[in-house]
Amino acid sequence: MDVITLLVAVLVNALLMLLALAVSVGVRARGGLQAWQLMLLGQAAGFGLLITATRALPLLMATLGVMALSGSASAMTLAVGRFLALPVSRRVLWAPPLALGVVHVFLFPDLKQTTGVTNLTIGLQIGWASWLLLAGVGRVRWRWLCGTAALANAVLTFARGTLVLGWPEIYPRFLVPHPLNIAHLMLLNASLVLGTMGFLLAHRDAAEQALVRLASLDNLTGLLNRREWMQRAGRALGAADAGAVLLMLDLDHFKRVNDERGHPVGDEVLKLTGEVLRGELRASDLVGRYGGEEFCLLLRQCDPEAFGRLDSRLHQALRRRCEASLGFPVDFSAGAVRVVPGESLSAAIQRADDQLYRAKHAGRGRTCCAAGVL
Ligand code: GH3
Ligand code: MG
Ligand code: MG
Repeated sequence: MDVITLLVAVLVNALLMLLALAVSVGVRARGGLQAWQLMLLGQAAGFGLLITATRALPLLMATLGVMALSGSASAMTLAVGRFLALPVSRRVLWAPPLALGVVHVFLFPDLKQTTGVTNLTIGLQIGWASWLLLAGVGRVRWRWLCGTAALANAVLTFARGTLVLGWPEIYPRFLVPHPLNIAHLMLLNASLVLGTMGFLLAHRDAAEQALVRLASLDNLTGLLNRREWMQRAGRALGAADAGAVLLMLDLDHFKRVNDERGHPVGDEVLKLTGEVLRGELRASDLVGRYGGEEFCLLLRQCDPEAFGRLDSRLHQALRRRCEASLGFPVDFSAGAVRVVPGESLSAAIQRADDQLYRAKHAGRGRTCCAAGVL
């Protein structure tokens, strides 16, 4: 098997995967996949230039080729950074290909040195990407797939660099059909395929998570939507969370806000209410937007004193927040019940709604509680 044939195979493989990605996710795929497409393009360009260098303009073609391969390794790191939401400095991405290009021109007549320095640099770059993927990998399948493929690639690339500089009698140079070259190019081919599959998996996981988020959150307030809140609160009560307080609240004279100040201001009030509720509650409490301007809260392990304090904090915080942001205060009426053992969620909601009705009729801006809450 000769090295040029394998190089052509890597080039064609990279181009085919680039095409397959463009067809399946589009050329404008967001975030990590776009960087991975850049990485495939870099591989194809790099090997194309290296093949050309064996026929014409060797200095120029080989220098551009190693720069493209190093740039491709940077694009791999960028893809990893984007998928893992890690900040990767642009300077760190640009520096290796540029530095390698300059060093390559200076060392060019010496094939041993150029092969050594190129492989050590690119080996380190890919090694860094694999380290980012595998450090604290947990059970994330795509990280295992991409990380091990990148690690194997990094080890072989680095080994070539080390051998050509230290033991040239074992590993003479890049284009010789040496077992290390054959193994490296075959493994590189495999790692491109596995990496592409891994990043596609990551892309799918991210899309799935975004869908789950979209399906469970209210897009105006960012709180749980009614369906998700009902499901979670039902599960919490099923798991013997009796004794929790169910609080149902409804903004006062909200229609007036819409009518007098406009719908966008009404929306702003709803957003502020969401922020206030999120800010005042504990992580263990469940809060959702139940309807237009109605919110439901399930407060676990909430003793009477704690409930009293929380309730007055909520009234005060919403009034202040709206006053500060919009120039007028907004208050709410609420009904609270303590869920009794064996009670269904809908029965508890009905009781809380009755208390809310009482609060509205008693003049609004207050919370009415069933026996046992306070
Ligand atoms: P009360 O004090 O008795 O609760 O009076 P209210 O005006 O708050 O009650 P009502 O139920 O009559 O009005 C609720 C209003 O909420 C009517 C509806 O137009 C408005 N609304 C529902 N959803 C939204 C929304 O997403 N954005 C805005 N801006 N308004 C909404
Ligand atoms: Mg209402
Ligand atoms: Mg209302």
